[in-house]
Amino acid sequence: GFTPNKSPDLLKKKIPPEEIIKLNGNENPYGCSPAVNQALFECKKFSIYPDATQQEVRSLVAGYAGTTPDRVVAAAGADQLLDVIVRLFIDPGDEMITCVPTFELYRFYTQLCGGTAVEVQRDENFDVNISQVKSAITNKTKVIFLCNPNNPTGNVIPKEGILDMAKTGIPTVVDEAYYEFSGITMSPYIDQYPNLMVVRTFSKWAGIASIRLGYGIFSPEVAASVFSIKPPFSVSVPAIVGLKSSLQEKEHLLSTVRKIVDERERLFQELKKLSFLKPHPSKGNFIFCAVLKGEAAKLTQDLEDRGILIRHYNTPRLKHGVRITVGKPEQSDKLIAAMKELMG
Ligand code: PMP
Repeated sequence: GFTPNKSPDLLKKKIPPEEIIKLNGNENPYGCSPAVNQALFECKKFSIYPDATQQEVRSLVAGYAGTTPDRVVAAAGADQLLDVIVRLFIDPGDEMITCVPTFELYRFYTQLCGGTAVEVQRDENFDVNISQVKSAITNKTKVIFLCNPNNPTGNVIPKEGILDMAKTGIPTVVDEAYYEFSGITMSPYIDQYPNLMVVRTFSKWAGIASIRLGYGIFSPEVAASVFSIKPPFSVSVPAIVGLKSSLQEKEHLLSTVRKIVDERERLFQELKKLSFLKPHPSKGNFIFCAVLKGEAAKLTQDLEDRGILIRHYNTPRLKHGVRITVGKPEQSDKLIAAMKELMG
């Protein structure tokens, strides 16, 4: 199965929503652009199906991503695009390679298609050994998923390593959900390596996670294949409104991204000062910390009881750590103060 981040709706202890500090979903603490709320309020098209050919969406996204509309496919979140990509490549008995610990949906969707998730272990710093990934390739390998920056650990695979993978000719998906926070992309290499695919989202940087809008950048041929099997109306009219308004307010949104990146670096230094934590450097809008003293699960629960949500994973390699989304500076300060109090 797949374990999502906990919704504030599900908290045992009732805490007023405005008092909850939600640092467990890598969402944008500054919210969406106010233009999105206004445009949704004014939108009169909710009774009409969206354009299934995504003409406007594809050209707007292409303009933002610096590519052409025939290379773009949009979907209801990057999440849905990952599902569609897996279904394009994986038949029962096929293999998908990914580098764990990483985002769980690659494995989840592969298994739903009857495929096998071949998991190559990252090293103790969560770095990927490319030659290990290459030696995991068999004649059943149909697709490779690389999360860059990696969720939940925040580190990146150097470009040369990803190109090394692309050179194998195996379809290679680079999940750049956190691109705006890293500034690192493989999209310019898709022309040279048409087996390379890039997946991104408006959930994080544009603050519209609940509206659901993700996209992929592909070679025109792969884009056509992905498009041919995706659900026709999954990019909803509200998502199109969210897209347009976000792009109109792009400069403002990117200024919140810069604030988050600055805060990421400050929070990292603050976390490093705590003797019971070892934060890992991150290029995303989150920081993974090893918990060196006590139980990470208990720390997470104790913080939750105080209305501060962070993410704990109950898996062998992650269970002694927590993932903290970078919020506003005052949210970081409250988190640090609460952790100091809890850990004595
Ligand atoms: N990829 C990664 C690495 C993510 O962290 C997420 C969101 N948690 C997604 C994809 C899915 O994003 P979306 O909201 O666009 O479905």
